[in-house]
Amino acid sequence: MTITVTFAGSGDAFGSGGRFQACIHLRPGANQAPLLLDCGATSLTALRHAGLDPGEIGTVFVSHLHGDHFGGLPFLILDGQFSRRTAPLVIAGPPGTSQRLATTMECLFPGSTRARRRFEVTVAELSPGTPHDMAGVRAQAWEASHPSGAPALILRVELGGTVIAYTGDTAWTPAIAEAASRADLLIAEAYYWDKPVPHHLRHADLAENEQELTARRVILTHMSADMLDRPAAYETAHDGLAIILPGRSRRWGG
Ligand SMILES: [Zn+2]
Ligand SMILES: [Zn+2]
Repeated sequence: MTITVTFAGSGDAFGSGGRFQACIHLRPGANQAPLLLDCGATSLTALRHAGLDPGEIGTVFVSHLHGDHFGGLPFLILDGQFSRRTAPLVIAGPPGTSQRLATTMECLFPGSTRARRRFEVTVAELSPGTPHDMAGVRAQAWEASHPSGAPALILRVELGGTVIAYTGDTAWTPAIAEAASRADLLIAEAYYWDKPVPHHLRHADLAENEQELTARRVILTHMSADMLDRPAAYETAHDGLAIILPGRSRRWGG
């Protein structure tokens, strides 16, 4: 099974480079609904811009509860309501996701949490350290170093034998190397080149810890204007970038 990874949104919170906020679309085989890694506030526009149907998405993994990573969820849910979606939607995020999502929905669209819908929205809260199996995906989370009113997560998702790790936003922590250990793809924040900024990952951090990173491929995202002008030592994402990860054949004997 191959996985198509589309960076619908590859930007930071502030529209640097005219990019949409974090929204990474994963399309597994034909029998499995697409997934998102993060759903920033601009994600409905980003998905449609990339020609991707928001109504198909089965699961959204949320790295942390900042607006540029989860602020698109109310729009995704309301779009499903108005387009008469029937397929269930799972939101998997850090502890606290359920409450923050409800508060955000009521703030943006009062009464929306009580609206009747034809589809079920389930929130699963991911505890760091415990593998979670849902909808054909094995998800693992590590605690990131990024204050956001709830624990922020570094994610590792495995679909049909293909492993994708995603840093979300975080200062360097050894958990990044653990989450990305021998992954097929590491999607890494590279907010700044080398300027000391708290709570975020810089190109310099990745270069410094290169020996620890054993992922087969690294793609940078969440870049500020400062970073966008630099000669990155890794592949960089842009809005609309789509790559295909080859599936791994299953090993006999487990
Ligand atoms: Zn961010
Ligand atoms: Zn953040």
